[in-house]
Amino acid sequence: MDAPTNLDALWLPFTANRQFRAAPRMLVSAKGMYYTDDQGHQVLDACAGLWCVNAGHARPRIVEAVQKAVATLDFAPSFQMGHPLAFEAANRVARLAPGNLNHVFFCNSGSEAGDSALKIALAYHRQRGDAARTKLIGRERGYHGVGFGGMSVGGIAGNRKLYGNLLGNVDHLPHTHDPARNAFSRGQPEHGAELADALERIVALHDASTIAAVIVEPLAGSTGVLPAPKGYLQRLRDICTAHGILLIFDEVITGFGRLGASFAAEKYGVVPDIMTVAKGITNGTVPMGAAIVSDTVFDAFMQGPPEAIDLPHGYTYSAHPIACAAAIATLDTYADEHLFERAAILAPYLEEAVHGLRGLPHVTDIRNEGLVAAVELEPRNAPTSRAYEVFDRAFHKGVLVRYTGDTIAFSPPLIVEKAEIDRIVETLAELIREVP
Ligand code: PMP
Repeated sequence: MDAPTNLDALWLPFTANRQFRAAPRMLVSAKGMYYTDDQGHQVLDACAGLWCVNAGHARPRIVEAVQKAVATLDFAPSFQMGHPLAFEAANRVARLAPGNLNHVFFCNSGSEAGDSALKIALAYHRQRGDAARTKLIGRERGYHGVGFGGMSVGGIAGNRKLYGNLLGNVDHLPHTHDPARNAFSRGQPEHGAELADALERIVALHDASTIAAVIVEPLAGSTGVLPAPKGYLQRLRDICTAHGILLIFDEVITGFGRLGASFAAEKYGVVPDIMTVAKGITNGTVPMGAAIVSDTVFDAFMQGPPEAIDLPHGYTYSAHPIACAAAIATLDTYADEHLFERAAILAPYLEEAVHGLRGLPHVTDIRNEGLVAAVELEPRNAPTSRAYEVFDRAFHKGVLVRYTGDTIAFSPPLIVEKAEIDRIVETLAELIREVP
């Protein structure tokens, strides 16, 4: 007889493991907008998994592409070797990316994309003989994954405090969350563009000649869905350009249609020098990330002897054939079904619906952009937040939302129907009233 499954054997990330083991939430299958749990209940996926399944689950075209890829070329070495799907996927991603972001360095996650982008930024300056530019600037409440680079430029105290000093030579911009001026904003908040000027102060303090790059999320997702204030990103862009500092956008959440455009860079009309992506690039089907770099950045690495390795960096699974196949089929699906346009069309409906929660008990702020929204609740004096309790109860009512601190967030697949948006918001309304 098989030994009974020991829940201790698996250590879940970012999870209260003992609390989870006492009442596990188990998913066994997924199709379209729904998960099925181990009790046979249908769960409406209001989160696109973890902000990644933008076309909905188990799309036959993507499934078939993955099946074909694994049966044809299950693996190809990523160093000094190529395969057609890798070049095809890179071309497709580059074509979608704005401006002169034309070169794609593949990896396997958003964290790897963040660390790759930071390493490329540091190396870029050295390639140009500017070796003093070693400082990296992140932002409070920023999330760029869990690698040492991403964690260091990230601005979440809870993610950092167990790990000591992290990378030196890092500074942080102030976050842009300003409920006193911007509570219940719809889309980008009106106030706060001037917060970008903190970069001028950092430049004045350390001197531009020491600063390699600035990394921000155009909309901070993990720390509560905080769209950049109007004008803020352009101001960062201008300051970076004026001082020769590379601007990196982390578009791991905002990429591939979430905001109703291919990328936040396109929606907001500000093009960075490097953009990191992951999640929606394969519809969540196969792990993949990428750092997409501008012609200028790329060209700096193509100057030396052609026989020399231009970037000593990469992963065994960079441009894995199965991930590339999934990415191509995913981008085809997004394009053929006009899903980014669909997100833009549905966004005002979602905005109206979620702002209807204003006035319910404990609701202190509501934020939204494209097909992502958040409801912030008053903190309470208890080991678990109200938001956690809403998340847990919602799951048992058949709706998967996310919680982060005191904020409930949702970001449904872009195939979501209005009736499903209604159901998500009605479930939240009921539970926000119910949770003490
Ligand atoms: N950057 C951002 C903005 C993210 O939201 C995330 C993941 N939520 C990451 C990076 C890290 O991605 P991954 O978990 O794939 O490493």
